[in-house]
Amino acid sequence: MMAVNYKEELVGVFGFPVAENPTCVMQNAAFAAAHLFWRYLTVEVKPEDLPAAVAGARAMGWRGFNCTIPHKVAVIPLLDEVAPDAKLIGAVNTVRRDGDRFIGENTDGKGFMRGLREKLDPAGKRIVILGAGGAARAISVELALARAGEVIIVNRGYDRGAALAEHLRRNIGANAQFVHWARTYPVGVDVDVLVNATSIGLYPDVDALPDVSLDQARRNLLVCDVIPNPPNTPLIKLAASRGMATINGLAMLVYQGVIGFELWTGVKPDETVMKTALEQAFA
Ligand code: NDP
Repeated sequence: MMAVNYKEELVGVFGFPVAENPTCVMQNAAFAAAHLFWRYLTVEVKPEDLPAAVAGARAMGWRGFNCTIPHKVAVIPLLDEVAPDAKLIGAVNTVRRDGDRFIGENTDGKGFMRGLREKLDPAGKRIVILGAGGAARAISVELALARAGEVIIVNRGYDRGAALAEHLRRNIGANAQFVHWARTYPVGVDVDVLVNATSIGLYPDVDALPDVSLDQARRNLLVCDVIPNPPNTPLIKLAASRGMATINGLAMLVYQGVIGFELWTGVKPDETVMKTALEQAFA
């Protein structure tokens, strides 16, 4: 007779406000496929209640959790340790438990990188990133750590964009530039990868297109979008109509979840199950 472990392991996401959460659907599908007696919960946590929520996760023996906006920065002082790249990003989206300690990680940029590496090695490449918010920061730090040849931050707000480029130069030694996005940005023929890391195109603004021109861009430009909802953004459609390779926002979302699953369980999940669950959640 086989011994059965009835203790259910818990992970989850602290978010605010919580709507239907595709990550929850994706992680629970992966636990079931791996025959793990684990459950991923979506928990609404107000900013002022975050310390109590983290203490509660400790008290209940949670194996870890995700944090969404607005908790990604505020959670840092509540943790026992923060991984070096999450420190450089300045935000934590994934927490894992090691014994009694909670360790902060950032899997957003790593998730993007896993999708990117399926298409090319970013080392030595010239990469334009639209945006300088949380997603752009996570992606640009990982690209700088991966020794991208040049990272060009193009942002509407001057201060945030200039500060991010300066951070990449000063703290990672990256070849990083800032371009103030005050008019149509022409993607040059020398650019290898274009990343939309703004919220332009996110539901409900599904017809919004970043103000860029691809007229001078090379035919084999790789165009990436972080927007997962809807995944087929106007930018992705424009690039595809010109025969360019594309990566949509589902790749980043799936892979950040895959990396989180691996960090929590020590087991590789069935990525196809996770992709299918996510696609169905956004269908
Ligand atoms: P932030 O609010 O931190 O940053 C938003 C960025 O978008 C800023 O750079 C902002 O510029 C820019 N922006 C917004 N609207 C416009 C506009 N109309 N014109 C020009 N620039 C604009 O958000 P995040 O970085 O956290 O998130 C950005 C997107 O990334 C979201 O849509 C989110 O869904 C997606 N995301 C996807 C993930 C995935 O796994 N696929 C993971 C994390 C995020 P400014 O500085 O001038 O305000």
